[in-house]
Amino acid sequence: ATPMSIMVGVGRGARAGVLIKNAEVLEMMKRVDTLVVDKTGTLTEGQPRLTACVPAGDIMEEQLLRLAAAVEQQSEHPLARSIVREAAQRQLDLPNCEQFNSVTGEGVAGRVDEHEVVIGKPALLNQRGIDVAPLADRAAELQQAGQTVMFAGIDGQLAGILAVSDPIKASTAEAVQTLHRLGLRIIMLTGDNERTARAVAENLGIDEVEAGVKPEHKHERVRALKAQGHAVAMAGDGINDAPALAAADVGIAMGTGADVAIESAGVTLVKGDLRGIVKAVLLSRAVVRNIR
Ligand code: ADP
Ligand code: MG
Repeated sequence: ATPMSIMVGVGRGARAGVLIKNAEVLEMMKRVDTLVVDKTGTLTEGQPRLTACVPAGDIMEEQLLRLAAAVEQQSEHPLARSIVREAAQRQLDLPNCEQFNSVTGEGVAGRVDEHEVVIGKPALLNQRGIDVAPLADRAAELQQAGQTVMFAGIDGQLAGILAVSDPIKASTAEAVQTLHRLGLRIIMLTGDNERTARAVAENLGIDEVEAGVKPEHKHERVRALKAQGHAVAMAGDGINDAPALAAADVGIAMGTGADVAIESAGVTLVKGDLRGIVKAVLLSRAVVRNIR
């Protein structure tokens, strides 16, 4: 493409909130046949709200929420913030948490009011000898509705589940449909569990889903697709997504996401609206067509 047509393309993108780093990015975008998308904060708003706090055994709901929030206060994760926010709304005062321990992509643990508290995936509780089976059915129901479920254990016993809902962005469905129509294959990658991931994907008409992906494995999936000969764009918002954004032919960051994701990307969607990807594809096709 001519430098002039590229400048025009980049300028048009910028006016529509699609920041394209340079000419190579725009030219590469034209060849992209596969789009890998992160779920949380990319397809969804990324601001989950607590929707259910279901105690198990003799613990009261408020005590479960209070102990969970005390631990999650130490975590930066959006799931953690939804728990702390709910506790604040109910005006619970949160005791200190000692010996805080965070396992990336798994959950958190700590000591609160003489209690050992753990919150996260079943595997994390299993490691501490806690069986989550008594709440498995309830959890499955919530997951089938697209909610993310965290299991809580206190002093070696199953204490309950906390569920959050993270609404899909209003603009996502239209973006996914149009990208499919433009011939792109879309693969959703997420650290969330299979059932929740499938529910969200089905809602959007995305038929390829890889759930339970460890943060450090996202970039490996991108590399594998490239090795199969695909031109791959990756869209994500989180610190965890940065290596995958850098590994992709075109990294697409949400302007609403982490700075390191934006730095690793060739395209930034200022408002995190995925219709910006459609815009970038159309611009790249128009610009490249100009020179022929
Ligand atoms: P995502 O890719 O959806 O942002 P992560 O890889 O960060 O997900 O986390 C995967 C899963 O690990 C979460 O769905 C949750 O079950 C668990 N998890 C992670 N961080 C926390 C936390 N602070 N508290 C409870 N559970 C957590
Ligand atoms: Mg994310």
